[in-house]
Amino acid sequence: MTETITGVGIGLGVAQGPVARMAERAPAPKDAASDRTPEEETARVREAVAAVAAELSRRAETTEGIARDVLEAQAMMAEDPTLEESVDARIAAGKTAEWAVHDAFAEFRATLEAVGGYLGERAADLDDVAARVIAHLRGEPAPGVPSPGHPFVLVAQDLAPADTALLDLDPASPNRVLALVTTEGGPTSHTAILAREKGIVAVVGAAGAADLADGDTVIVDAAAGAVVTSPTADQLADAQRRVDERAAVEAAPCTPGALADGTAVPLLANLGSPKGAAEALELGAEGVGLFRTEFLFLSSKEAPSIEAQRAEYAALLTAFAGRKVVVRVLDAGADKPLPFLNDAEEENPALGLRGIRALRANEQILRDQLTALAQADAETDADLWVMAPMVGTVEEAVYFTGLARELGLKTAGVMVEVPSIALMADRALAHTDFASIGTNDLTQYTMAADRLLGSVATLQDPWHPAVLRLIAQVGEAGAKHGKPVGICGEAAADPLLAVVLVGLGATTLSMAPAALADVRYSLGRYTLDDARRIAAAALDADDAAGARAAARAAAEQPAS
Ligand code: PEP
Ligand code: MG
Repeated sequence: MTETITGVGIGLGVAQGPVARMAERAPAPKDAASDRTPEEETARVREAVAAVAAELSRRAETTEGIARDVLEAQAMMAEDPTLEESVDARIAAGKTAEWAVHDAFAEFRATLEAVGGYLGERAADLDDVAARVIAHLRGEPAPGVPSPGHPFVLVAQDLAPADTALLDLDPASPNRVLALVTTEGGPTSHTAILAREKGIVAVVGAAGAADLADGDTVIVDAAAGAVVTSPTADQLADAQRRVDERAAVEAAPCTPGALADGTAVPLLANLGSPKGAAEALELGAEGVGLFRTEFLFLSSKEAPSIEAQRAEYAALLTAFAGRKVVVRVLDAGADKPLPFLNDAEEENPALGLRGIRALRANEQILRDQLTALAQADAETDADLWVMAPMVGTVEEAVYFTGLARELGLKTAGVMVEVPSIALMADRALAHTDFASIGTNDLTQYTMAADRLLGSVATLQDPWHPAVLRLIAQVGEAGAKHGKPVGICGEAAADPLLAVVLVGLGATTLSMAPAALADVRYSLGRYTLDDARRIAAAALDADDAAGARAAARAAAEQPAS
């Protein structure tokens, strides 16, 4: 009988095919005394760790982007000196190498989980390293992705980055991965981040998928966040029609973003490292709408030097010569703590000294970053804009733009992520050159729903008319002052919501590059009048589901 398993969809793709499950991990080792000498056990561990680190580095070399960074980080985790000491101490106490690795890594995992947020999500990366070392010690093959000899939907508990990085996505391959379904992991897990980056159809956190068996036919509908089991012939035909439609959209040429009446809506990329530039350009990014500088320094204990920053920014600006690049200054706090900016223990870090507040409390760090940006700007030809995260007051907007101009940056703006600044946008835009709406945090703060917490995920929906009303106010303020209003949160990557956002006054949209093709196609189907009409329908709803339904109905009416 047809059933629907729900989870969190990543992207908008759809796929269908037979399930192949990821091999279960071998059972954890037991706490046992070793019959080898500690020296023998230590030698075994060193050899296993070196082999695993070498294999992860080899995999890193064959890939690029976030996958490469993650694999490199994993290779470093394997050889981390603190972990090594912790393993050695257990071996010295007479334990087996297998147990020592298992126990020492578990302890480190608990520390990461206690920190929560981004670091907490990295716990799965650490588990994978431990499983690989233990498999090596036991002489067993490393845990990994199956090769059933036909295209398949991969079902796993959660995917290790080492596996995600090497998924076979080649359409001609007999072992092609059609889609991913995980029973664990949220929208910020590595599986989700990498699926988004590579444009893989994925549904994560689908607990019900634990019962799927090898060979079961399923439809994975990321747009609906659903996995349909035992689908009917009609459902399969409909899914295939959508697969074909998307293939046609992806194959379409990368023209600049525009509405059907020719209104330009530049489509920009969200990036966290200059390494993503080439792929973004290939997918038709017209520039960068959000460069998340904190991603470069998440593992730094000390503030980065001006020179280290200048080099990164110059690489980015060189890749986008002649194009607009919006760089966000360090956004530290809550889900992205930076040890050199967030040192205080806070009860509610999402409401604490974060973003521009943390930078202001450490003004030299902000000055250094703006100086590095000005230096990189002077030696390259891109059109550099800078903006501050988590701005909550007009006074903060005045402070940031003033400092940026003092340090030689010609275009300075603010992110609109806090409802207070959305409500005050007409005043803030009098002082800034532009605004860029971060819908992820704007939704979190408008709905009082932690963006990382699964139990309140249904409230974390940018379609909510409360969020749309705030965006409309910012759009109106932009029009009044004749200043650009960009969108750089995930909402811009939703093709129909993108039309609504333009109807509310957004002038550019920035997103993960994999989403560009769908959004380009969607914008091209509507005029500005249509977009305004669809937006008005969405605004006139009670909740997110109502707004979506109203927008869909309005979008189906004939084009004006
Ligand atoms: C946002 O909050 O929407 C945003 C773009 O910033 P980040 O996701 O990095 O917090
Ligand atoms: Mg944000």
